[in-house]
Amino acid sequence: MKGRGVILFPMPFQGHISPMLQLANILHEKGFSISIIHTRFNSPNTANYPHFRFYPIPDGVSENYVISSDPVRILDFLKSLNSNCQTPFRDCLTELITTTSEDEDPIACLVTDVLWYSTQAVADDLKLPRVVLRTTNVSSFLALVTMPSLFQKGYLPLQDSEAENEVPELPQFRFKDISLFKDPGSFLEFIDAVVRETKASSGIIYNSCEDLEGEFLTKNSNYFPIPVFLIGPFHKCFPASSSSLLPHDKTCISWLDKQQPKSVIYVSFGSVAAIQETEFLEVAWGLANSKQPFLWVVRPGLVQGSKWRELLPNGFLEMVGERGHIVKWAPQQEVLLHPSTGAFWTHCGWNSTLESLCEGVPMICQPSFGDQMTDARFISHVWRVGIHLESKIERGEIEKAIRRLMVEPEGQEMRNRIKLLKQKMNLSLKPGGSSYKSLNNLVSHILSLQSSK
Ligand code: UDP
Repeated sequence: MKGRGVILFPMPFQGHISPMLQLANILHEKGFSISIIHTRFNSPNTANYPHFRFYPIPDGVSENYVISSDPVRILDFLKSLNSNCQTPFRDCLTELITTTSEDEDPIACLVTDVLWYSTQAVADDLKLPRVVLRTTNVSSFLALVTMPSLFQKGYLPLQDSEAENEVPELPQFRFKDISLFKDPGSFLEFIDAVVRETKASSGIIYNSCEDLEGEFLTKNSNYFPIPVFLIGPFHKCFPASSSSLLPHDKTCISWLDKQQPKSVIYVSFGSVAAIQETEFLEVAWGLANSKQPFLWVVRPGLVQGSKWRELLPNGFLEMVGERGHIVKWAPQQEVLLHPSTGAFWTHCGWNSTLESLCEGVPMICQPSFGDQMTDARFISHVWRVGIHLESKIERGEIEKAIRRLMVEPEGQEMRNRIKLLKQKMNLSLKPGGSSYKSLNNLVSHILSLQSSK
């Protein structure tokens, strides 16, 4: 089969690795042979993918490095990955291209995370088309790339008087939803590189679907005049479980089996977000006081430096007894699919948001940074399928939000609305659906890239 090799390069964060590997599986099912170049840091579990070839490269990250939840430190990390990996990536890619044997599929294109901006120059030098994957949605990417002009116009850095006002370019958001950094310095430089190298690429893939955010396509094309493909939600084609960097605690499922239908509040803040010790205690008391059964993911490091749940108040576990179940890491997709799960208290990472939307589980939103802020705005004010906890984390507020969602008519209305979204999204993947068509367009596009090389 000619022209059917694709090389993918994920950014080494849980929320970026999963969609890239899901995309790899989707392309593999369409007949492409798959090679994955990856950093040694947060290396994917290669044993789960015997049908792919894996090529680790050095990344300069120290062995015990823990990803910070501070946006400034994340930005520094992303920049150092881009500079540390550029040469190893070039060497690996050159080797792959030059050693492709007669009986192997020639390489049609490279797919990298949009944040690997330093790979465009390598792709150009090697005359290999690069398509980018944006692992979040279109609206949050547009919010990110709009920020430099908001700094220029003086709207940012955020002033208190402007915080609640609509962003003129993206009226779905308020300034406070998109204000990531106080000091634009190194951030603007980073965004500039991402935008420039995305414009130079051969197309953008989003893990989203037109039924969810078709309204942003024109704006996206104005910004990025290159082909765009909304082919999500990926996890409905290939589950996220095989790409999990942490082991899943399956006791969640047997515990859920014992609970009443739609009675459980599932709580998880993803793989990076962290909270203060005082906030952790408020979460614990809020859950206890709600009288609702809860399944809580307390990731080691959720409170900086914590090993697991040692910060819980004395007697807490005995007091909640069987009504609460705490784990280090849950099989989230299975949890959201389970009939006992009634709501998801989430940090609004895009994967978590999509997984919840697709299973029709309404949300309590507690975003920390980045696209989580814009996702929370969409969940609570555009799709109206969740409650945004905007004030500080406090047990009384938590109890109130859980009641509104689990007990009051407002919660039922959200459940009705999310059911419709769920149907729409699942239909988009079926023959005739928007993501189904977009995927076929992507396949033709990749093959055309090969023939035009
Ligand atoms: N996840 C999981 N178990 C957990 C919490 C999260 O498997 O206990 C998975 C979840 O299903 C999702 C990913 O981790 O696919 C988190 O990605 P997301 O974009 O939501 O957030 P991030 O971790 O990148 O902040």
